[in-house]
Amino acid sequence: MPETATHPDLPAAQNPAAPVPGPALATVLDSLAAALGPEHVIRSAGGAAEPLPAEANVSAFAARPLHAVLRPGSTEDVRLAVRAFDALGGTRAGLPGLHAVSTGRNWGLGSKEPAAGPVVRLELDRLDAVRALDTDAGYAVVEPGVTQAALAARLAGTDRMLNVTASSGHTSLVGNLVDRGVGLRRQRTEDLLGLEAVLPDGRLVRTGWWPDTTAGAAANPYGLGPSTLHLFTQSPLAVVTAAVVRLLPRPEAQRVVRLSFGRERLPEAVDLIRRWRAGNVVSGVVKIYDTASTATYGGERGHGYLAHLCVDATAGTLGALTGALVEEARATGLFDRIAAGEEPAADDTVSQVVQAAYAGSVEFNEDMLASATGTRADLVDTEGNGWLFFLPLIPFTGPDTSRALALLDTIHAETGIRPGATVNALDADVIDLVVSFPFDRATQAEAAHRALDRAYELFAHSGWAPYRLDAAHGGWGRTHAPDAADAELVGTIADLVDPHRTLAPGRYL
Ligand SMILES: Cc1cc2nc3c(=O)[nH]c(=O)nc-3n(C[C@H](O)[C@H](O)[C@H](O)COP(=O)(O)OP(=O)(O)OC[C@H]3O[C@@H](n4cnc5c(N)ncnc54)[C@H](O)[C@@H]3O)c2cc1C
Repeated sequence: MPETATHPDLPAAQNPAAPVPGPALATVLDSLAAALGPEHVIRSAGGAAEPLPAEANVSAFAARPLHAVLRPGSTEDVRLAVRAFDALGGTRAGLPGLHAVSTGRNWGLGSKEPAAGPVVRLELDRLDAVRALDTDAGYAVVEPGVTQAALAARLAGTDRMLNVTASSGHTSLVGNLVDRGVGLRRQRTEDLLGLEAVLPDGRLVRTGWWPDTTAGAAANPYGLGPSTLHLFTQSPLAVVTAAVVRLLPRPEAQRVVRLSFGRERLPEAVDLIRRWRAGNVVSGVVKIYDTASTATYGGERGHGYLAHLCVDATAGTLGALTGALVEEARATGLFDRIAAGEEPAADDTVSQVVQAAYAGSVEFNEDMLASATGTRADLVDTEGNGWLFFLPLIPFTGPDTSRALALLDTIHAETGIRPGATVNALDADVIDLVVSFPFDRATQAEAAHRALDRAYELFAHSGWAPYRLDAAHGGWGRTHAPDAADAELVGTIADLVDPHRTLAPGRYL
């Protein structure tokens, strides 16, 4: 059995006794330095057994012991690295687990931090090829280093668009996709057609739909029979080296309707918006920002809630559809202000981001990031204001939304941290409630993490579960598995795919 040690910089609660990697690690790193180039293998000057200096992250999650950073330049490099660790017996033989990130900008949920250590991090942003782009068939094949800004730029002026998120344009499509992130049009999982994955023993598999194969010309991510596609999303069972991503048809005409209303109107307004969504009057992800989130993301002041509704149509039908929607909104008397198709004010960052992003553009996303964190993408983790996310799914009803927001008032009263909330209605039934905890890193980190813990407790108590986890709640999925037999089946598959536990435990397994 390997020796164990604690990491000096970490609070005891986040620093379980970790195995000290033996000389085997130094041997693997030497061989990888020769293969990848020494500049792509970053390790401690004090030798392989000593972790690299702890790195800061914007959420103040404790740093796990990090024994090296590998920066492969190709899929073959990734296979070589994974195989080298697996051949020596992986974590079961005392080696650090391999933790893959694409661009590592998972701000609010962990940035580059793993759920547990010790690890060797595989940074995949050097794999940045758009391997294929077909705007007729509607797909792109992208590597982990391809950012949403890069692909969105390639699609400008075409009749296809990308389902972009509200995060920085410098974030990875693959990273967000495998974490099951949410764009302005829908959850990114629905854009996923296929994955290329390096298994812990170095084998390369392509799952889901791939062009120019017997899968056929029309994209069908489920194929025939059992599918392994989602075995590799929210999963530490493989390192993903490419994804086939669906490109959405660009609507011929589009208009954003913005509705402002006070808190006392929230339940009725949400139920009305749900009716419009159920009737396909509006499309994409309906966004409703509350006062606190509008203030932090950078928007108009003075309104309780601001809903953004996207109307997609043809050039000939847009006016009639928007007109009818606005009339119906006006007739209810629920809204303080109704704006249809007006350009957002220059200082209304939220409305600028949302309007552009519905149309597949990340033109304003860096402004929102700067508003939220006080800095630009490459400095967020070192210099940005503190930021945490809690991401539960709740039913799309007025009463559920009101009850969820009341829980945030409780958290504010208990901890002094004021959460912001954005309602992201994914379809007619489900809301992804984006709860953000902005905080001062120097003085409020402990209170912000207490607020996050309380959110997990209070929402679970109300019967609502998160759909994504952060680096400090990696065990949540195990302790809250909806079905024990299913969890056991997943464990059996994990034993089969990664018997040596060569890949580090993730936030979800
Ligand atoms: C202001 C602001 C707005 C945001 N808006 C959104 C939003 O609208 N929607 C949204 O979803 N998120 C949002 N985020 C959160 C986050 O920034 C994004 O989800 C971002 O895309 C994640 O970072 P990344 O793309 O660099 O992925 P990474 O950090 O590279 O990856 C995320 C995780 O996926 C896994 N992973 C990554 N790559 C691989 C791989 N190749 N193989 C195996 N596993 C892998 C790892 O567990 C990793 O931790 C926002 C954050 C902020 C601060």
